[in-house]
Amino acid sequence: MAKPSPNLPCPCGSGLKYKKCCQKYHKGALPSTALLLMKSRYSAYALGLADYIM
Ligand SMILES: [Zn+2]
Repeated sequence: MAKPSPNLPCPCGSGLKYKKCCQKYHKGALPSTALLLMKSRYSAYALGLADYIM
């Protein structure tokens, strides 16, 4: 599977690059709010990161 590109806009819609946005959550950081958790799950889904969603 292709890895998500850190320099592309994050799929969650924040307008930030993936590396500045949800990537840290997909690498194990805990989102500080429920909204961030939802966004990180959405972007994981959009990027095909099934492991994160499970
Ligand atoms: Zn994001």
